[in-house]
Amino acid sequence: MKDKVIIITGASSGIGEATAKLLAEKGAKVVLGARREERLKALAEEIRAAGGEAIWQVLDVTRQADNDAIVKLAKDTYGRVDVIFLNAGIMPSSPLSALKTDDWHAMVDINIKGVLNGVAAVLPEFVAQKSGHVIATSSVAGLKAYPAAAVYGGTKFFVRDFMEILRMESAMEGTNIRTATIFPAAINTELLHTISEPGTAAGMAALYEQVGITPDRIANVVAFAIEQPADTNVSELTVGPTVQAW
Ligand code: NDP
Repeated sequence: MKDKVIIITGASSGIGEATAKLLAEKGAKVVLGARREERLKALAEEIRAAGGEAIWQVLDVTRQADNDAIVKLAKDTYGRVDVIFLNAGIMPSSPLSALKTDDWHAMVDINIKGVLNGVAAVLPEFVAQKSGHVIATSSVAGLKAYPAAAVYGGTKFFVRDFMEILRMESAMEGTNIRTATIFPAAINTELLHTISEPGTAAGMAALYEQVGITPDRIANVVAFAIEQPADTNVSELTVGPTVQAW
């Protein structure tokens, strides 16, 4: 982990924030991206005050130019990129009959196209250096079907398939790019704030209140994947509370 240059998208809260803190504590140089500038600034200051290395840039993952710019920032500042954690996402779940079509499109744009844009930004670098680690946050909703999560789950099923093929193609092409896909369940973050349909929001809030765990549990697993030897790929990790649902 020491001195690895790690870009984290969705670093302004929840899983991204917790992961940034842990990786920086372990000696990584973290490059933080999200839309909320004040949050990124405060987090970078907190990490530096604790003796860590952090820089940040406002990033909207739906814009290719923003993704390219954060990769450039990492390279200009630290000389290279070792890991990108594609974690930005929203979960405005609802029954299909609610016809929340704006939410559907926003999830496709952020959860799918955001991952594509991030990979497009970093892949030339990883291919050229014949190393690199792409880590993405899917969800248990990317493994099983959950009512109200038709579109959210679809975006997360996409992430699983895409990451698995990235892993296979990298092995076939001999570029040594490692991949890890994380499948969290019920992590207490700001994610539920993105739900606009009142019935779904109430149901999810009750569930999370009952079983939710803290985002540092995901941070530990991301660190575990990064800390494996370079010839070892930990590809799929499910992390959630110890309940039967997933
Ligand atoms: P949070 O809402 O706390 O964090 C989401 C992060 O994504 C924020 O930093 C937000 O920052 C960022 N983000 C959202 N839209 C964009 C955008 N267009 N461009 C850049 N950044 C964006 O929730 P979590 O930490 O829980 O979510 C992180 C990931 O984990 C998501 O992909 C989510 O789907 C996944 N996940 C979470 C689970 C949970 O139970 N919490 C379960 C399964 C998966 P900003 O608004 O500042 O841009």
